[in-house]
Amino acid sequence: MFEAPGSKYLVPYDGSFEVAKSRTSPPKIDHKKCAKRLRKARRRLDKMQQVLYADNRLSVLLVFQAMDAAGKDSTIRAVMQGINPAGCQVFSFKKPSSLELDHDYLWRTAARMPERGRIGIFNRSYYEEILVVRVHPKLLEYQRLPRDTNYETIWDERLESILDHEKHLARNGTVILKFWLNVSREEQRNRFLARINKDHKQWKYEPQDYAERQHWDKYMQAYEAALATSRPWAPWYAIPADDKPYMRATVARLFSQAMQTLDLRYPVPSEEKMAKIRKAKVLLETNHQQ
Ligand code: ATP
Ligand code: MG
Repeated sequence: MFEAPGSKYLVPYDGSFEVAKSRTSPPKIDHKKCAKRLRKARRRLDKMQQVLYADNRLSVLLVFQAMDAAGKDSTIRAVMQGINPAGCQVFSFKKPSSLELDHDYLWRTAARMPERGRIGIFNRSYYEEILVVRVHPKLLEYQRLPRDTNYETIWDERLESILDHEKHLARNGTVILKFWLNVSREEQRNRFLARINKDHKQWKYEPQDYAERQHWDKYMQAYEAALATSRPWAPWYAIPADDKPYMRATVARLFSQAMQTLDLRYPVPSEEKMAKIRKAKVLLETNHQQ
């Protein structure tokens, strides 16, 4: 089973992670170095994605969670640039539809898990069920849960279900990497203002973004509990998000390091197929018309 590569941003597996001690700003910023690091990681990822695809045995799931304006979209764009789009699938999970609410909360993401050989990206995920829903428990009313649901223990039960779900996926060949882009409240304010002040960025600003910001502390508590699901086979990385070039380079590097630990191989043709390949080679070389 996949085992996460170490990093100072790897969330420990023992539940000791504290949001308050997690950095939002990078240790030191050298943007040239970041750009170089990003380019190097992309080149490696492109190569490894080809073997992942050819091997057709494992799949890779990247989960991105963050407060608004932390830079999920632009990180996904930056990290995946240069990778063959045929081997990637990106899904953004918004407020659940009525069809989705007719099912259990893991249904909509389970249906969109990456196929073997592919990289799947979740922009938000089943973790919303213990983040936004935990901060706004009224949302549970739309979920029409059984009458005997215990609303005291529901969050712990959801954490347990998510842990079970991820272990099941990992055992069956899904490599899971989870990134929390940790933006500070101050930097979020700057980015909201930048969106509001630029005509071509205003569309990105949702009036409800301001309201959500008022629940910052509750969100941080919910994130702390959610990140306790970090495990060697489904690690969380808490990435400082106040500096975008650093964040993107760090995510790309961790992703590429994780890919390098995988046992990926180009398939070896059977003896029977090799005989046919050798025959085709001879025919192609000797007969130019065929
Ligand atoms: P951007 O960064 O561009 O704003 P976004 O990911 O925030 O992108 P939006 O369309 O603004 O996309 O918001 C999606 C909303 O859907 C978020 O507020 C999120 O909390 C909410 N959402 C996602 N999953 C669920 C869920 N399971 N239940 C309720 N709300 C959810
Ligand atoms: Mg939003």
